[in-house]
Amino acid sequence: MNETYENRIEKAKWVIQNAENILIGGGAGLSAAAGIEYGGKRFTENFAPFIKRYGLTDMYTSGFYPFPTQEARWAYWAKHILVNRYEPSGTQLYKDIFQMVKDKNYFVITTNVDSQFEKSGFVAEKVFEVQGNYGYLQCAKGCHSTVYNNESLVREMVAKTEDCKIPSELVPKCPICGGNMDPHLRINQHFVQDDEWDELNESYNHFLHESTGKKMIYLELGVGFNTPGIIRYPFEQMTFNNENATLIRFNMEHPEGAKENREKTIAFTENMYDVVSKIMK
Ligand SMILES: [Zn+2]
Repeated sequence: MNETYENRIEKAKWVIQNAENILIGGGAGLSAAAGIEYGGKRFTENFAPFIKRYGLTDMYTSGFYPFPTQEARWAYWAKHILVNRYEPSGTQLYKDIFQMVKDKNYFVITTNVDSQFEKSGFVAEKVFEVQGNYGYLQCAKGCHSTVYNNESLVREMVAKTEDCKIPSELVPKCPICGGNMDPHLRINQHFVQDDEWDELNESYNHFLHESTGKKMIYLELGVGFNTPGIIRYPFEQMTFNNENATLIRFNMEHPEGAKENREKTIAFTENMYDVVSKIMK
């Protein structure tokens, strides 16, 4: 971190130009930087009735709120899914990152569940959404491993929400066990890993394998410490194990990593848009 901003930009530019493979890790900080923030005006303007009734403070903690009934719970979740998954189109930051890597052999692993990578040009077969996706439902008990597209249902729920509740007939039920449904998110041990999840997990492992020893960039974008075992620690480990690897880390709050990788790390705490546009100049 002793190097100047311009220095780090030049280094990043050079290693990206010369890289054989790029593995991208996307965390919550990336979507927040792209403008999909879970607090502030986006929250207060979209959720005023829920804030008034339940005292909710932001979209992150609201996901864990113990709503009193399924009708109330789905009224909240439908709105949450609509504003984070269906309303936003591909954001400029994600599109810029795509431009930066699109001619390289790349792969994405992300804990984000909002489809921004796909919406911004990344090929679906190269994006492993390891924690699920807002756009699907699953059995809350994981009794079978199918996930169900929820777009039309979510839109109908939002349209028919009254007094912070959806009509009872819209509450989704598992077609196999008849129990409750959940959004397809890894919130507990019942998370469903369907065929598509398994295939992408395999593609991810294949990409790691074929990257062994290559001129490799681990591009870590806004990854904090909620689930560091998925992206952050493996990226440091893989950087350590490959003498031709560079770790490029974008993180405003936690840029510091393993000291063994110090020479191989380029860390940015600056605004992501700014860094990406300077690297692409
Ligand atoms: Zn079930």
